[in-house]
Amino acid sequence: MDNLIKEMEVYAEEKNIPIMQKKGIDFLCKIISKSNSKNILEIGTAIGYSAIKMALVNDDINVTSIERDQDRYILALKNIKKAKLDERINVIFTDALDIELSDKYDLIFIDAAKGQYIKFFEKFKKNLNPGGVIISDNLSFHGLVEQKERIESRNLRQLVGKIKKYIEFLENNKEFKTKFYKVGDGIAVSIKKED
Ligand code: SAH
Ligand code: MG
Repeated sequence: MDNLIKEMEVYAEEKNIPIMQKKGIDFLCKIISKSNSKNILEIGTAIGYSAIKMALVNDDINVTSIERDQDRYILALKNIKKAKLDERINVIFTDALDIELSDKYDLIFIDAAKGQYIKFFEKFKKNLNPGGVIISDNLSFHGLVEQKERIESRNLRQLVGKIKKYIEFLENNKEFKTKFYKVGDGIAVSIKKED
């Protein structure tokens, strides 16, 4: 298993696939373990790295993961099969904004297009079990979110603006209480308030 994980890390590095950073994935796995999450939904599978890591936390964990890029989806299936986790990880090939899920999850991990985070959050919060948690990755966006100087590229500036909006959205959210962690590329942990 360690070999496969290593292989995936090397592949992602070579092909510039933004899988979770080591410290980030360790942090996420610790939360899964502590919160005793059994049913996990992931938005953004890429090649299956974080899905495999999450499923390995405990053998009674099931992961549903959504990926819209066909090449990555196929690679993810291959890696998951190699890891012998195809019974516990289900990858859905679609745009996450185009699918309605009826299942409930203990933990939802958002790690897809940064400009769509509010939409993902609003769409999938209804799929959260009571006491569940929503985790969002890349809120620092390689340090660009905290950077004070002007960002040259217009696209990048817009993207960073959207991440800032998402952070504000979480900070002002009435339903969820969010903590922000400077680990990996910046991770938010949002827990539903009791009503
Ligand atoms: N969670 C993975 C990395 C995901 S990278 C890991 O740590 O191993 C982000 C992925 O999200 C990309 O592969 C991209 O194709 C996918 N993605 C982005 N927007 C999406 C959307 N709206 N629906 C489904 N997948 C999306
Ligand atoms: Mg990420």
